[in-house]
Amino acid sequence: LPDRFCPKCGGELCLRPVAGDSHDRQVCGRCSAVHYQNPRILVTGMVTCGARLLLCRRAQEPALGLWTPPAGFMELGETLEQAAARETREESGVSIDPEQLVLYSVTNLPDISEVYVSFRATLAEEHCAAGPECLEARFFSEAAIPWASLAYPEMAGYLRTFFRELGAGESWIHLSRADQSRRTRRGYRVIAVEESARSY
Ligand SMILES: [Zn+2]
Repeated sequence: LPDRFCPKCGGELCLRPVAGDSHDRQVCGRCSAVHYQNPRILVTGMVTCGARLLLCRRAQEPALGLWTPPAGFMELGETLEQAAARETREESGVSIDPEQLVLYSVTNLPDISEVYVSFRATLAEEHCAAGPECLEARFFSEAAIPWASLAYPEMAGYLRTFFRELGAGESWIHLSRADQSRRTRRGYRVIAVEESARSY
């Protein structure tokens, strides 16, 4: 939701056109500061051990008591990978090297002006310990996933796709859009490239 008051002087903000700008902006009626708002970026860690995926049970609203992969807002000064590793560690106690994360999906949620970026990581051994924002953290096989207790019901198709690719040993990157008007997805298959053929 838009803020009502100016973060600089506390004056009241109102939405109005700004010269040379394509969008109406919130402008302070007292000091005339333009208050820009931009989409928020969230990161998700899709952490597996063998054929099992790490999920956390939320200790907070929204979706209190329901299950989701570790996820949260990116902080200032972080890279996407650092944010995903930090959220995963905070929520599940699982430490991952940000450099070992592999881009998995980018999901546009224009209705709520959020973008989710998720990364895959593989562990050799299962270990986790729920952090303060979680009631529980556990690894689940596809059959054991608490499908009726997912934090976001629309996540079921996403997890089914993830398990199908995991089982097939395929690497994909998904770019998708999910909102009330439509749902689209494009998949980019990742093909392994010989080390010597890399250009970087
Ligand atoms: Zn102001």
